[in-house]
Amino acid sequence: MMQSSFGRSDLTDTIAAVATPPGVAGLAVVRVSGSAAIECSASVFNGGDLNAAASHTVHYGHVRSADDGLLDEVLATVFRAPRSYTGEDSVEISCHGGGVASRAVLERLLSAGARMAAPGEFTRRAFLNGRMDLAQAEAVADLIHAQTSEAHQASMQQLEGRLSAYVGRIRDSMLHCLGMLELSLDFVEEDVELFTRDQLRSDIGQAADLLHQVLASYGSGRLIRDGVKVVLIGKPNVGKSSILNTVLGTRRAIVTDVPGTTRDFIEEQVMLRGRQFRFIDTAGLRETNDIVEQLGIDASREQLGGADIVCGIVDTPDDVQGLADLREQAAAISARFVGVRNKRDLYPEQSPGDQDDVLDISALHGDGIDEFTRRLADIAAEITAAAQGQSVLVTNARHADCLRRGASSLEGALKALDAGGTEELLAYELRGATDALGEIIGAVTTDDILNGIFSRFCIGK
Ligand code: GDP
Repeated sequence: MMQSSFGRSDLTDTIAAVATPPGVAGLAVVRVSGSAAIECSASVFNGGDLNAAASHTVHYGHVRSADDGLLDEVLATVFRAPRSYTGEDSVEISCHGGGVASRAVLERLLSAGARMAAPGEFTRRAFLNGRMDLAQAEAVADLIHAQTSEAHQASMQQLEGRLSAYVGRIRDSMLHCLGMLELSLDFVEEDVELFTRDQLRSDIGQAADLLHQVLASYGSGRLIRDGVKVVLIGKPNVGKSSILNTVLGTRRAIVTDVPGTTRDFIEEQVMLRGRQFRFIDTAGLRETNDIVEQLGIDASREQLGGADIVCGIVDTPDDVQGLADLREQAAAISARFVGVRNKRDLYPEQSPGDQDDVLDISALHGDGIDEFTRRLADIAAEITAAAQGQSVLVTNARHADCLRRGASSLEGALKALDAGGTEELLAYELRGATDALGEIIGAVTTDDILNGIFSRFCIGK
C-alpha cells in the first residue's frame, strides 16, 4: 500500500519551519510543533527554562550554536497542548528578520531533533487534531492567498466556520433520516412506523433546497477567490499581447508583427480597480497547418470555455463582421463581451464606437486603456454582486463539487420516494449525500484529498 508522505502516524514527531517569507524584514518567526517541541526549543535556548514555562507565556533569551556562538536574540512563546494552533505543544520563536538569523535558528532546532515541516503541515495537524475542520483549514490557505478585501472577507467567513455549520446542519438532518430508515429496516417485520414517507420527503426536499441555495453562490463566489477570467481573442496581430502588456504595465507577452507568434496562451493575474482578474492571451482562433501553432489554438479554445468576460479585438474600425463573429463566440459560451477596436492612432478620422459594448483604444499609446479597465471592473462588479452580503458563500471548486454530488444524491432519493422505491435504495442515496457533504468538512476523507489540499499551502503554515 502507498504511504502518504506524512500520515496520521507522523503526528508523533516534532516539526519546525520558518513561517515568514524570506527577505529584509523586521522580524521572522520560526515555528515548532509536536510532543517534543518545548523540550527541543529549550535545548537551543538560553534564557528562562522553557520546559517549566506555562502556556501562552513569552520568554526573552538567546539561541546559540553548538559551539556556543551567538546566533540570535529572540523571544520564545510557549503554547501547551491542546491550546495551540496545531493542538500540540508548540513554540514560536521570534527572531530578527532578513532570513539568515531565522535559518540559523531553524537549523539548530533540526539538529536538536525536530524535522523540517512539509507545506501546510501545521494546518494539517490542526485538522487531524480536531482544531478545525477541513473547510476551515482550506480557508487558511485562501486567507494567505487573498489579494482583495472581498477574497479576504470570504475566507474569514469560511475560517469562522459558516460554511461548515451550514453544511453540517444539512448533513446532520440527513444522518437523522438515514438513522430512521436503518432502524425501520430492523423493524420491518413488526409493522412499526417510525416516520412517514411524507415526513421523509419534506426533510429531504428541504435539504436539497438548502444545497441548491448555497450552490447558487458559487457562480460569483469563485470569482472572488480566483479572479474574473478575461480571455482576449482576435486575429493574429490585432494587438492582443500589446493590450495585455499595457494593462499589466510590463512586457510579459511577446509582441511582434509576425502573425501567430503567441504560441501558447499566456495567463496573468492582475488587480485592477480593487478587483482580481485573470487575463488569458490566446494564440488567435484561426485555422493553421503549423502544428505548434495548432497546439496553441487548441489550448485557446479550451481557455475560452471558462471565460467570464471575452474581450474581442479587431484592428480596423471597419471590421464590423470580425467584431460580430467575436461577439458570437462570447455569446456561445454565455460570457460577457467587450469589443475593442485597437490601433485607433492609425485611424484618427474615425468617430468613436457607435456600439455600447465596443471601445476604441490604442494599446501602443495607452489611449482608452483607462476606459477599458473601468469597463472590465464594472462588469466584474456586476457579476460578483450576487456574492455581496451573502452570509454563506461557496468559493472553492472542491466544495461546489461535493455540494453538487450531495444534491444529486438527494434528488435521487426524492425520485426513489416518488417511485415507491425500497428503504435500501433510499438509504443508499442518503448515504451518498451524507458522504459527499462529509468530504467538505473532512468527516469523510482520504489521504489523496488531504495531500491535494495541503500541497497548496506554503511551508510554515
Ligand atoms: P497579437 O498577435 O494580437 O498579440 O498582436 P501584438 O500585440 O503582437 O501586436 C501586433 C503588432 O501591432 C505589433 O507590431 C504592435 O506593436 C502593433 N500594435 C499593437 N497595438 C497597436 C496600436 O494601438 N497602434 C499601432 N499603430 N500598432 C499597434
